[in-house]
Amino acid sequence: MKQSPLQSLDYSVLQQCMHCGMCLPTCPTYAETGREKNSPRGRISLMRAIADGELETTPNFAEEMSYCLGCLACTTACPAGVDYTNLLEHARAHVEQSGVVKTPRRDFVRWLTMKQLFMKPRLLRFAGRLLWLYQVTGLQSLARALRLTKLLPTSIRVAEPSTPTIQRRFSDSLIAKVETPSSAKTAKSASASASPSAQPFRRVLLLTGCVQDIAFSDINRATADVLLANNCEVHTPRAQSCCGSLHAHNGELDLAATLARRQLDAVDLSQFDAVISNAAGCGSHLKHYDRLLATDPAYAQRAAEWSRKLRDISEYLVEINFRHPQPPARTSTAVPNHPLNLLRSSIDGREKSPAPTVTPVTYHEACHLCHGQKISAQPRAILRAIPGIELRESAEPTWCCGSAGIYSITQPKTAGWLRDRKLNNLRATAAPIVAVANPGCSLHLQAGEAHSANPLQFIHPVVLLASAYAAETHP
Ligand code: SF4
Ligand code: SF4
Repeated sequence: MKQSPLQSLDYSVLQQCMHCGMCLPTCPTYAETGREKNSPRGRISLMRAIADGELETTPNFAEEMSYCLGCLACTTACPAGVDYTNLLEHARAHVEQSGVVKTPRRDFVRWLTMKQLFMKPRLLRFAGRLLWLYQVTGLQSLARALRLTKLLPTSIRVAEPSTPTIQRRFSDSLIAKVETPSSAKTAKSASASASPSAQPFRRVLLLTGCVQDIAFSDINRATADVLLANNCEVHTPRAQSCCGSLHAHNGELDLAATLARRQLDAVDLSQFDAVISNAAGCGSHLKHYDRLLATDPAYAQRAAEWSRKLRDISEYLVEINFRHPQPPARTSTAVPNHPLNLLRSSIDGREKSPAPTVTPVTYHEACHLCHGQKISAQPRAILRAIPGIELRESAEPTWCCGSAGIYSITQPKTAGWLRDRKLNNLRATAAPIVAVANPGCSLHLQAGEAHSANPLQFIHPVVLLASAYAAETHP
């Protein structure tokens, strides 16, 4: 008989927890209920009991695995180095395989999203184009004004305010015009610009994602601009798939492995110094391709190389000692195209107001960046290097905002409680701008600001950096 995902997991991973309880104060779900079963330690005990065959797989176990945010705060606190990501992925895969929560409606939604939309990039882009039309023709605003969204099924109605605004142009068309396609051209320009202060030439692969490709193509373009400004040759494969994080985090490990193989098949890794991701949740998963494909003899070696080269953009920029942008020529007078000036105008409605000398910016740490990838100082280093920004720390910066993939759909109550807590902490800094490096967090937090008179602006740190570079050349 085929082993379940929890039973096939290396048993030493299930044994790592020594039940010390150091993780308990960091766990948002334990904070909400105070119950042992809602804690990392409690969940690991349940997983082990199921793997040992001492406990049946029940809908209650499935609910417990769904209630966990996957925020990985417990992994940062854990002195034993428990591989909770691996445990949770296998536990969720175990739930799916057991079928204890199967219903026709749930099966249909999962088939449509995970087996169709996110497996077929062209289909996802087509859906994105339809959604774009729905938004630009005003139908979305009309439906919201007439409260037609109330007619939607509960799960979709809850998620509807977080629907991303689809961009008119997707990543490839935005990046193609700046991408450096020819190594000959680059080598020439690199040698032409060589100087003692010039950075060494590097060639990088930029991942543009799936949802990010259609809803946050501006972040992808900003990432390309920043890399180019740091003497990198940027390549963006035209046929990119979803990275598979959605599948891995939701119990579809086989599909996640299929997508990982597709990514590896699409590139010749030996050509690149690094593979760059700019979305925290995707990056956290992309770095684990080595583990995901460890037992696949045809891919294990390439997957290991992929994981070795995979970098979050902020991590990479600090690693290559990124160039700090110069202040624009005139910071104290009107500089209409200065990013901070534009932001200020959009915030207080004063068109063409003078560029602020200093704009307070706070930073929200996406869980999969700070806990999943242990990247915390690098985005702050970027923000501190931008002229005109004053970085203000908020309380509980590493506490989950409740976004957590599809968590706001599956657990709306806890997601809402965590969002309110996060927004209160961010507002207390009095900074109008929140730098955040994960699109899911941005959408979730933005939806919480929908009825605010002065909504916070959520901007990826790399967009702020790209704007600062652009302002250098447009005084
Ligand atoms: S991942 Fe987050 S919610 Fe889940 S057990 Fe760990 S700290 Fe708690
Ligand atoms: S901190 Fe680590 S070892 Fe201690 S109880 Fe939590 S998961 Fe187990």
